[in-house]
Amino acid sequence: MTSRPVEPPTIDELRRHIAAAETPALLMLTAHVTDDPGILREEWRPDPVALPRGSASAADDASIRELCLRLLEPHLAGMADWPERPSALVMSAIGEWVLGESAGEVQGLLHQAFVPAGTDPRAPQWTVDQVAPGRNFRVAIVGAGISGLLAGLRMKQAGVEFVILEKDDSVGGTWTENTYPDCRTDVHSHVYSYSFLDYEWPSYFSRQHVILDSLRQFASDQGLLDHIRFGVEVTGASWNDDLATWTVSTVDRDRAEESRDYNVLVSAVGQLNRPSVPDIDGLDRFAGPAFHSAEWDHSVDFAGKRVAVIGTGASALQFGPAVAREAASVTVFQRSAPWLKPTPELREDIPDHEAWLFSHVPAYRAYYRFSIFLPRAIGQLEAVTVDPEYPPTERAVSAVNEQMRKLLTAYLEDQVTDRPDLAEQIIPDYPPGSKRIIRDDGTWIATLKRDNVRLVSDAVAAVDETGVITRGGEHIDADVICFGTGFKASDFLMPMKVTGAGGVDLHETWGIDACAYMGMTLPDFPNLFCLYGPNTNLVVHGNLVFFMECQSVYLLSAVKTLLEGGHRSMNLRPEVFEDYRDEITEASAQRAWGWSKTHSWYQNAEGRSTIMWPLSAQRYLDSTEAVDPDHYEFS
Ligand code: NAP
Repeated sequence: MTSRPVEPPTIDELRRHIAAAETPALLMLTAHVTDDPGILREEWRPDPVALPRGSASAADDASIRELCLRLLEPHLAGMADWPERPSALVMSAIGEWVLGESAGEVQGLLHQAFVPAGTDPRAPQWTVDQVAPGRNFRVAIVGAGISGLLAGLRMKQAGVEFVILEKDDSVGGTWTENTYPDCRTDVHSHVYSYSFLDYEWPSYFSRQHVILDSLRQFASDQGLLDHIRFGVEVTGASWNDDLATWTVSTVDRDRAEESRDYNVLVSAVGQLNRPSVPDIDGLDRFAGPAFHSAEWDHSVDFAGKRVAVIGTGASALQFGPAVAREAASVTVFQRSAPWLKPTPELREDIPDHEAWLFSHVPAYRAYYRFSIFLPRAIGQLEAVTVDPEYPPTERAVSAVNEQMRKLLTAYLEDQVTDRPDLAEQIIPDYPPGSKRIIRDDGTWIATLKRDNVRLVSDAVAAVDETGVITRGGEHIDADVICFGTGFKASDFLMPMKVTGAGGVDLHETWGIDACAYMGMTLPDFPNLFCLYGPNTNLVVHGNLVFFMECQSVYLLSAVKTLLEGGHRSMNLRPEVFEDYRDEITEASAQRAWGWSKTHSWYQNAEGRSTIMWPLSAQRYLDSTEAVDPDHYEFS
């Protein structure tokens, strides 16, 4: 990726904008440019949880900016010649400063955390013409969401012939389908985006249409649009043992069916694209509009309406407040209360001064991303790990988890000191980390405290023509029902019918326990790679887009292995799969989301998690850097 040419700013320009800089990024940038880690003083070390924001006192804050200005001044004119990467000494000091301990065991993550502006270090360093000139080799990628587009880019960079089959009319996947009010990412945009993408985000947590625009622009800039067949849904794929190809069956908008053969099949269909609407007695009799968050009915005018919002997950916490601002009344039906993570900047735009730093001081952007990426990639796995000696309960699974609970409880309680009735309802009765901790800037509790909003914690028993009936028998009138009830996330690769070697059916093989090595490959399904597949979701210890980048690195390594070795297929060895599955199953049971008996989409119908990655991000990185040929049988 090429970055914009940068005119070096003058010191006066920098002085004008520097007050908007986050001091941790500024300090790291200064250490980099001066090649001197001395400025990374212990007393200025940021609290990893607060990053990218600094935690220095106001007085220190001013001194930091003054000192950085003074140290950067002699280097500004030569900005174009700043070293692309910090020296090894400075990098290691930066890692230690941010983490508060040696970064020795997470060297890989440390290097992934810093991506110099305008570079794409994980692009394939080979092409088909170099490794297998003249070989006829085609790849089908299913889905043009974040992971499918990335896989497409990597194929293009390597010169591999590929097509992306997309059922919608646009790229973007979940960001095309979810258009409900106030839909936005609740992961910082600078890490909820490709590491090599130099995008000027208007807010810290971008809105749906901004993310969608960025993906459309990316697909266009990278020349991917010519490779995408829109409006083409993959209905099935079957492995042809004799030809060693996948026959991929599709149906287009005109219901025309087609089958084509590919050497490699990549599923990039995501996890959150099949809405889950509960099977509520009488729902079909409801007289008004009733729709799911991912199928928002924009023709509905909420003014003067009585609205039932069912569910209190990440989606409902975004659209619920927006609906409450317009509707006559809103009744929120909560099955379990969400834990909320205080994030004051959740709905804030990036101020002009800081936007200037992003666009005029590219190394600032790189360190800003670094300061979000690294601490979160290491994350809080320990805080959600079950300590059998503690002993674990549905309150907390360990002493550290209890500490986390106390902090999160205080955040909730402080907002309802004037509403004891709400206080009883909003404190979750399960350990933090058992399901997604939702980012919040105070909007959710403020919404619940509105005069026109009522929180009901009784279960929904039925719906009739005019409203919702609770298990306790109360009838609550409603003109509109909005379901924020999530997705069928455990039904991986549904509804495609995928048939592997010897006619084995993927979904019969999996049952309700989908599993694939590193979320990607499994025995009897040669040359099939799943992106964002089973057990690759993250709760408090990693970053989804980074995991997708890891998956693309592994995918390209596999394609290279096939091409270079002249192989027709690669099939994961059953013993590798079984060892991996045992490790994942055991580790999942030791995490809050696997241990707790609370409802969550992180668990399947029998309480096992096929969704979450239960090990460290470093482990995922190490295991996906390259294909280990010993893990596969080649033909
Ligand atoms: P979700 O997290 O699965 O939440 C579904 C909600 O519906 C939960 O509160 C659930 O209660 C409730 N529910 C389900 N069935 C119910 C029933 N029969 N009766 C009453 N309540 C019921 O779904 P989501 O909010 O759509 O979010 C799904 C995922 O999408 C998120 O976890 C996140 O990964 C992603 N997401 C991301 C963003 C973003 O900003 N990046 C935004 C939205 C969504 P229980 O908790 O008791 O099961």
